[in-house]
Amino acid sequence: MRILVTDTLADSGLAILRAASDMELDYRPGLKDAALLATVAESDALITRSGTAVTAELVNAGARLRIVGRAGVGLDNVDVDACTARGILVINAPTANIMSATEHTMAMLLALCRNIPEAHASVKRGEWNRSKFLGTELDGKTLGIIGLGRIGTRITVRARAFGMTVIAYDPHIAPSVFEKSEVESVSLDGLLNRADVITVHTPLTDETRGMIGADEIAKMKDGVVVLNIARGGIYEEQALADALNSGKIAGAAVDVYVEEPPNGNPLLSAKNIILSPHIGANTIEAQDRVAVQTAEMVIAALRGSIFVSAVNLPFMGLDDPDAPPFASMAEKLGLFAAQIISGPITGAAVELWGIDERLTKIISVAALKGMLNLHLAEPVNFVNAEQVAHQRGIDIEPTAHPVPVDYANLVTFRASSATDEVCVSATLFSEKNQRIVSVNNFRVEFKPEGYVLYIINKDVPGVVGKVGTALGDHEINIAEYNLARNASGGRAMAIITVDSALDFEAITALKSIKAVEEVKQVKL
Ligand code: NAD
Repeated sequence: MRILVTDTLADSGLAILRAASDMELDYRPGLKDAALLATVAESDALITRSGTAVTAELVNAGARLRIVGRAGVGLDNVDVDACTARGILVINAPTANIMSATEHTMAMLLALCRNIPEAHASVKRGEWNRSKFLGTELDGKTLGIIGLGRIGTRITVRARAFGMTVIAYDPHIAPSVFEKSEVESVSLDGLLNRADVITVHTPLTDETRGMIGADEIAKMKDGVVVLNIARGGIYEEQALADALNSGKIAGAAVDVYVEEPPNGNPLLSAKNIILSPHIGANTIEAQDRVAVQTAEMVIAALRGSIFVSAVNLPFMGLDDPDAPPFASMAEKLGLFAAQIISGPITGAAVELWGIDERLTKIISVAALKGMLNLHLAEPVNFVNAEQVAHQRGIDIEPTAHPVPVDYANLVTFRASSATDEVCVSATLFSEKNQRIVSVNNFRVEFKPEGYVLYIINKDVPGVVGKVGTALGDHEINIAEYNLARNASGGRAMAIITVDSALDFEAITALKSIKAVEEVKQVKL
């Protein structure tokens, strides 16, 4: 099998590729255009960094291509959909740079507090102005971390070594993670009010985009110091620049921008800011780790293992035709439960009826994968789903019952939080025919696809009409309307499949219907 490498790869990774006796390495950094297309046609795997655009044209030229390995995290240069369409596994190395980003955060914080970039430049200019560079200490200060994931938890340890008190806001993580990290869990407002230093470590999602704007900045302490080493856009850049210029924020350290490079960005001319060109992951160690992890995974995947950090098809090499449809259905159950439960998930369980026990593991891992992917920065895959869940305080308990009940096969997924419990079951009618048949003990039947509304209401006359009218008023077309109730006059549940997403106003309109108690929009 032939592995083509089209970008410079660290020697440690090349050594692993060369040592694989059943593989042939074709190391051609900088290969482009027609030569690239011709060579990819002869290759079983392609390894790139960011220098090669893995376009649909390139992917389709790779008649033998089975694996694309991105030696790094970002997949901006890889057309993952084109790879998926051709059944090509896309592998990346998402955990290789966590420590580098953690250390860059600490480096930027210290450099900011002691004015190191400016002090350095002034000495180089021949000046000797000691009073101009009056710094601040970290010792005794309160650090507020937004997003207590892999990097957030590592920052905690380092900040504490500097004598800081650490508080954190992360609404999607179990209390046990705060306890284990010995970090006080606070609300966003609580963090903004109390922290002397604020650092964000969330992914960029619809929820976190612009989460720190002028209103949030107004709630911060005067003279606060803020950092963004995560993703451009979590802070509103204009609001941050304004607060720096007014002195409300005493200093900021930023590595990432909405647009990169940041041309015309208001942060470039803001006062008291230190900037770096998205180098959080750029260390020799991270590059080495990336090269080693990518080389090892590409070889393992070519040899048929699914135990790699794949971002698209996770079933390659799993020699069992029943696994993919059940795993895909279980993933939908996890995703559904994660969107209707209130509060961070603290426990999960899977039960199988009438399904071969050999599928228990992949089904339970698939459910976790679906449940976790909603709020995390990097795609959770079959390799890391259990580990990521465990780190977040969740251990899944699968149980298999050989004899089917009610349906020829059934998968039930239960998730619990401190205040809520959700139980969803689905059956596979045929390979491609999945149906969710029960939600919180209400019997329903719908395909887990597209946009679905989950509504709980008092079982009184007229609700269906009002819901239909509210959706119609907001130009939302109903594809399917499922109704279930536990007892006449009790509570009823509606599962409504709609053709497009509801905006905030449409959801508010549904919530304002008198008998409606709960409305959640689910994307499957
Ligand atoms: P992670 O997935 O391990 O952790 C992210 C955390 O954010 C999770 O615990 C999640 O629950 C939390 N979160 C999600 N939405 C939230 C919200 N609305 N409010 C509060 N918390 C929320 O990710 P990670 O590996 O720790 O990475 C964190 C960030 O750092 C990511 O954006 C990643 O892309 C970025 N990063 C940047 C560089 C760089 O070069 N500057 C390098 C590596 C990672």
